[in-house]
Amino acid sequence: MKNSIYLDGSKPTYKGNLHLHTDWSDGRLPAAKVVEVFKEKGYHFISISDHEVFTRTDEFNSDHFITIPGMERGGLNHVPDKDPGYHFGVIDDPTVEPEQERFGHLQPFLTPIPWTGEQSPQLLIDEMRAHGNLVVFNHPEWHLTRFDDMVNYHNFFAIEIYNHSTEWSTASSYGAAYWDHALQNGKRVFGIAADDSHGHYKNWKIPEYGGGWVQVQSEALTHYEIVKSLKEGRFYSSTGPEIHSLKVEEGQLKIECSPCKFIMFKAFPLRGPFLGKFDSGEPMTSASMPIDEEMTYIRVECIDFEGNVAWSNPVFVTDLLEEAQK
Ligand SMILES: [Zn+2]
Ligand SMILES: [Zn+2]
Repeated sequence: MKNSIYLDGSKPTYKGNLHLHTDWSDGRLPAAKVVEVFKEKGYHFISISDHEVFTRTDEFNSDHFITIPGMERGGLNHVPDKDPGYHFGVIDDPTVEPEQERFGHLQPFLTPIPWTGEQSPQLLIDEMRAHGNLVVFNHPEWHLTRFDDMVNYHNFFAIEIYNHSTEWSTASSYGAAYWDHALQNGKRVFGIAADDSHGHYKNWKIPEYGGGWVQVQSEALTHYEIVKSLKEGRFYSSTGPEIHSLKVEEGQLKIECSPCKFIMFKAFPLRGPFLGKFDSGEPMTSASMPIDEEMTYIRVECIDFEGNVAWSNPVFVTDLLEEAQK
């Protein structure tokens, strides 16, 4: 089995939120204010993903903070204007040469998108891809998405596995079960935690901003390098804990993290261990498990003493087998 480094503790990482709204759609704050909010919270990048309007805001970019062009595209309700429907995160991908022209700043899109049959979500995904974008399957739990949609639809690179807005609004924020369903059916997709912040509460004591994020290992804080790392899965998602390193060494998957209560290896089809210092209750900062060649993927969740989670991306075991080497 090959050795492989997925997250290298010696390399820089950048914190970002890929899903949020401003007053360009149904958010309360203007983009410039939202940028300030995230800068103050120590973020390095955001994607302003307003509903049905694409944003491209280079004017907010500096050496220490960038905005990644994007939007949220949704609709496709079986019953017009009623949930459930489909929302997709759209992220401009500068690493590809698109078949069709890229979207421009404040380019509007018609809504609602009508449901014209089971092919509707796929047509929308493919249209976004043709214009040079990555697509994220947003908040599946909140949208009462069917589990098999994760298998039957294609060409999305990630599933939103934590959506902070739908956690405090309806306690339906976790998409990890959808993620596992996709992975167990052979999909190679990553998991993304995000805020989906709208800023609706003026005097909030419970913050809407900064609830879920991605931490991306990248060569540089640029649109190109961040998206390249996202596509390679060189990031983790979190609502609190940090993952410092993730690697395969001599047939063992090894993780290092900030102090956590549990470290859980989710492997399939052979279950991985759920580890904690149950007798002493002491925090854990590392763990490892042997990789069985019968496994298809392994991902790791690190859970802190407040119940916050860091999710690694999946390690695909077939990539590690010697015969996979060319
Ligand atoms: Zn949405
Ligand atoms: Zn949203």
